[in-house]
Amino acid sequence: MEVREILDVFRAADPAALKEKYLAEGRKIVLTAPVYTPEEIIHSMGLVPMGVWGADVLLKRSKRYFPAFICSVVQSIVELGMRGTYDGASAIVIPSLCDSLKVVGQNWKYAVPGIPFIPMTYPQNRASEAGRAFTKAGYLRVIRDLEAATGAKFSAQALADSIKIYNEHNALMRRFGREAGKYLSAADRSAVFKSAFFMPKEEHAALVKKLLAALEGEKPLSGPSVVTTGILADSPAILAKLDELGLRIAADDVAAESRQYRTDAPETGDPLDALAAKFAGMGCCSVLLDPEKRRADLIVDSVRETGASGVLALQTEFCDPEEFDYVIIKKACAAAGIPLLAVEVDRQMANFGQAETMLEAFSERLG
Ligand code: SF4
Repeated sequence: MEVREILDVFRAADPAALKEKYLAEGRKIVLTAPVYTPEEIIHSMGLVPMGVWGADVLLKRSKRYFPAFICSVVQSIVELGMRGTYDGASAIVIPSLCDSLKVVGQNWKYAVPGIPFIPMTYPQNRASEAGRAFTKAGYLRVIRDLEAATGAKFSAQALADSIKIYNEHNALMRRFGREAGKYLSAADRSAVFKSAFFMPKEEHAALVKKLLAALEGEKPLSGPSVVTTGILADSPAILAKLDELGLRIAADDVAAESRQYRTDAPETGDPLDALAAKFAGMGCCSVLLDPEKRRADLIVDSVRETGASGVLALQTEFCDPEEFDYVIIKKACAAAGIPLLAVEVDRQMANFGQAETMLEAFSERLG
């Protein structure tokens, strides 16, 4: 298959159509909310995990449950749930990693009563022995609730097998992140990351492998590139503008993209302990406690390693964790002499004129 043909498969990964396909095949779907849901557990129980990170929709019905100053990611997840977009799913797992996510589950129970809410409560002090035990207890609760909601059964051996599949996918996505910056437009790169939330990991991994092999024969793109950072970077209007300006994405520190794939679970020992160890080993993320704020160093290092010309911070409106980190990222970029642009994004954004003008000026600055 040619590069374009493979990319078309990623682009065609429409979540609504895939949901209907899985249901027609008699498979049970479990929705996974941001930022880190224990997908391996869901996969190991023979269920299909499907990511829900909201969508660019007008918020109407969900406004009954939220104040105006809460991020549109959680609001649009509930909006879609109330509209029936997720009908047929057997459950939703929502982690507790930010204040918005902490309240969304409670609202979900009343707003979308037909899809059971399963909380995954994580500790912030995740690396200590007590933190790992707390995380493991959270996973056991998720397993118990999944068994009740779906009738599926948990097995430690099946989880060990799923961990291997997810680790292999992680490694491929890390490689993809490095290669995509050389060969792909921002929109094509995003399609590969986004489709990973809707396709079974085995299928997605096989397709990414084919894409990486096909890219070896391609000519690298030229022109300036940026490192993106934020929660989401899938706005079609922003991606189209980056492509129009010839700005490649050399690497990312985006929660819905590379942050998902940085850390593997160990493949030895008790698989639930391994998953807790994976969570303990995660870092450099706005929703994970990091007193040293190494995320800023990671972004500066990514710019240096990839030769990117600047940093594009895509700030989700009303996302407190990202707003707190932005100050530190800004200082680190200034100290390293790296141009930085912050663009505020929102799931309800209809007018991108201001963002487009800012990107045009930034692109000129990067040369
Ligand atoms: S991390 Fe930010 S964008 Fe994500 S749910 Fe929390 S507040 Fe919203």
